[in-house]
Amino acid sequence: MQDVGVGLYPSMSLLNHSCAPNCVIVFEGYQLLLRSVREIQIGEELTISYIESLMPTSERQKQLMRQYCFECDCVFCQNQEKDAEKLGGEEHAWKEVKDAVNEVRYPKSKEEWEQVLARFQNLLSRNTGRLPDTNIYQLKMLDCAMDACINLESWEEALSYGSRTLGPYSLYYPGFHPLRAVQLMRVGKLQYSQDMFPRALETLKQAYNIMKVTHGTDHSLMQALMEIKEQCEAIMRIQ
Ligand SMILES: [Zn+2]
Repeated sequence: MQDVGVGLYPSMSLLNHSCAPNCVIVFEGYQLLLRSVREIQIGEELTISYIESLMPTSERQKQLMRQYCFECDCVFCQNQEKDAEKLGGEEHAWKEVKDAVNEVRYPKSKEEWEQVLARFQNLLSRNTGRLPDTNIYQLKMLDCAMDACINLESWEEALSYGSRTLGPYSLYYPGFHPLRAVQLMRVGKLQYSQDMFPRALETLKQAYNIMKVTHGTDHSLMQALMEIKEQCEAIMRIQ
């Protein structure tokens, strides 16, 4: 769900947007797959989300207007669904975090990752008790701190941040959502690499149950997931 460019897929462009869509699109290489994530009634319109949903209603609306020139009136926009949780905690604290997260620009070197991580470590320790992990900017920072640690091969610390994201992910990506499946897979791999086999298996199974809907069993990511899951099961059998 990160913007890397624009692709033209004529049949997919017939799909309308909803912030609470009944379908998702996932890539397999350059191929776009459209997959349903809920039961769909006969005659019901198929919808996807054009944008990343981890934003309060006003920001989603702004982006949809800027990029696609329409005003969304889906049920989530009408109810301002989860806006209070998304902006929970002290405002001046999350505004600082929001700026810090937005300033990160695809770090390339080890040094750049170290700088990003140091800034986030500092913010995380300063904001203890002031920002819940469900605040979306805190959540984005945890995600980015996890990425930094993975790049720096600090596996234990990566897992500690990754584990903290799972609760908020299930709040904001309930049901079947590809981003939650991928996040569970990432955390499961970190648990596996740190010999936490029963826990890793549990996490990987959760990822599997979502991914079989969001990606399907033939998807390459699913194949990779099944491989780790089988390795984990094999180790547990001989232990
Ligand atoms: Zn909406």
